[in-house]
Amino acid sequence: MGGDAAEGTRLSDPPGGPAARPGLVLVATPIGNLGDLAPRALAALRDADAVLCEDSRVTGGLLARQGVTATMIPLHDHNEAAQAPRLVDRMVAGEHFALVSDAGTPLVSDPGYRLVRAAIDAGVQVSAIPGPNAAVMALSLSGLPPHPFLFLGFLPARAGPRATEVARLRQLERAGLAATVVFYEAPHRLAEALAALAEGLSASRPAAVARELTKRFEEVRRGTLGELAGHYATAEARGEICIVVGPAPIEEAGADELDAALRAAFAAGLSLRDAAASVAEATGLKRRDVYRRALELGEG
Ligand code: SAM
Repeated sequence: MGGDAAEGTRLSDPPGGPAARPGLVLVATPIGNLGDLAPRALAALRDADAVLCEDSRVTGGLLARQGVTATMIPLHDHNEAAQAPRLVDRMVAGEHFALVSDAGTPLVSDPGYRLVRAAIDAGVQVSAIPGPNAAVMALSLSGLPPHPFLFLGFLPARAGPRATEVARLRQLERAGLAATVVFYEAPHRLAEALAALAEGLSASRPAAVARELTKRFEEVRRGTLGELAGHYATAEARGEICIVVGPAPIEEAGADELDAALRAAFAAGLSLRDAAASVAEATGLKRRDVYRRALELGEG
């Protein structure tokens, strides 16, 4: 049961009550629609001794619109390694900080991990106020199986490393990974990213492109990777974008793992029927599919 006013819990109270006020609180902010700033998020920003932010112009604008004045301390990829120990010392000495990124959930393809790690190591209490996240929203709107899912962030910008990364994913799928995969992508690289995914995974794989989530021109386009790559080869993509790719079909996903497990079962002297039953149980694959593959391998 969640805390509420009747139990004497204020909006800004952390789990555990006011006495447990964390040294560091990770605060999610809107990914486009300012109405998505949660009341607890606002209260935490107001209560903090300082707000650690990527870009003080972005966060300053957000705070100003809410009538909040706060001390801001820049924390971004270029200064986080140096800043983290100093900030942790201050939290150990009793200061309370809120961490935000320019948009969405801090740490998710954004700075903050090194600070959180250092704070945990120093025994500082860390909490979070959950809220908007583009990857999870895209996943839930994609129409693709929501779990298991794998978040891979941005693909490499250059074609060579990008193809290598896609090949690595394909290899994982061939070893049994069957997860929906979510990527972030820049609009000017969307077409080439989709083409690389269609080529490296499969043009027939179901996918979705989620654009401008929570904003005026929010759009989710669903289709196969081949169809989406074809569409964006000519249509200009604007705004902020997530790509969601459906899981590899199970027979593809588990091909190598399945064959290895069947061969091991045959080598252990199991009959074809027993090998199929035990491998189906161990892998979670359908017994019928495993039996068919066992027949194809022609052993047992
Ligand atoms: N921390 C953020 C979050 O929780 O979603 C993500 C930060 S990452 C630097 C920014 C990328 O997230 C964008 O390039 C885009 O791929 C994705 N993104 C952010 N806002 C979005 C939106 N409104 N619609 C679709 N994608 C978005």
